[in-house]
Amino acid sequence: MGNVREVRIARRTGFCYGVREAIDKAKAAAAAGKRTHTLGQVVHNEGVIAALQAQGIETVDSLAEVREGAAVVIRAHGVRPDVLRLAEERGLDVIDGTCTWVTQEQHEITRLVEDGYVIVLLGTPRHPEVVGLLGFAPDAIVVDEEEGWERIPRRKKMALLSQSTQPPWKFEKLAAFMVGRCHELKIVNTVCPVTIHRQQDTVEAAREVDLMLVVGGRSSANTKELTRLCGIVGTRAVQIESEEDLTDASVFGDAAVVGVTGGTSTPIEDLRSVAERVLRLAGTPAAAARAAEMANAALAAAATPAGRTTSLPGPQVAVAR
Ligand code: SF4
Repeated sequence: MGNVREVRIARRTGFCYGVREAIDKAKAAAAAGKRTHTLGQVVHNEGVIAALQAQGIETVDSLAEVREGAAVVIRAHGVRPDVLRLAEERGLDVIDGTCTWVTQEQHEITRLVEDGYVIVLLGTPRHPEVVGLLGFAPDAIVVDEEEGWERIPRRKKMALLSQSTQPPWKFEKLAAFMVGRCHELKIVNTVCPVTIHRQQDTVEAAREVDLMLVVGGRSSANTKELTRLCGIVGTRAVQIESEEDLTDASVFGDAAVVGVTGGTSTPIEDLRSVAERVLRLAGTPAAAARAAEMANAALAAAATPAGRTTSLPGPQVAVAR
């Protein structure tokens, strides 16, 4: 037993609309009786992938694994245009789950290449969204951490864009850096609003609690950024991958109110599981006794059913326990 009497889940967490739509499209195809695949994991979360598999939706790494006529869902990150062409040539039933925001990025980058700009893209070099964008701008210079910015050449006419989930502050800093690199600089702010809202809501939650739990993949850049932002507002933050990482109540110290937030690949239902685990592990006797009920209330306060992992009828992809 501990001191935690309340757990709050940050607003606007869970999957972004792009990921949710891709999941919904895959589920709808499978429900319509199509043999359905997703090209790459639709989201990097093993629980969700297993739940989709149970509904007959298979993850494949390449189009060669998909039989002619079967459905293949393009995930929210999008793909290179030649991948789409190949899928069509092979007679696959292509279901394009590319997020509308990413589609817009692809259009922007294509237009800038046509207009003769040297493209600089802020992003993680091997991230699928970046790989897809490079299909539209093969000569784009991809940069990530500040130490690598010096290799950006000096050119007359340059354009700057960003992978959708990059931190806005980094994009702004790179934009300022690039002003000194060229004569004409075109900046297209392609940082997704979901990223911005999530950071705002996490900071808002962090200001009102004693400790934050940030749930997401250890290597996820957007998750690490949430942890960093909590620290900036002076709230201790602990990053975990799932409720299973919570085994030691001492991590909560004398925290009475704990906040929970998550990266874009973390289903909101997982945040609910974390909330319940916190209350059972480190809650006051009264809170521990009502852990499930309080976790459900925290989830309900954070997201309407439409904001959950899937908006289609039937069981949630990640089942709230
Ligand atoms: S983070 Fe934004 S751009 Fe990326 S898939 Fe989600 S909604 Fe789309």
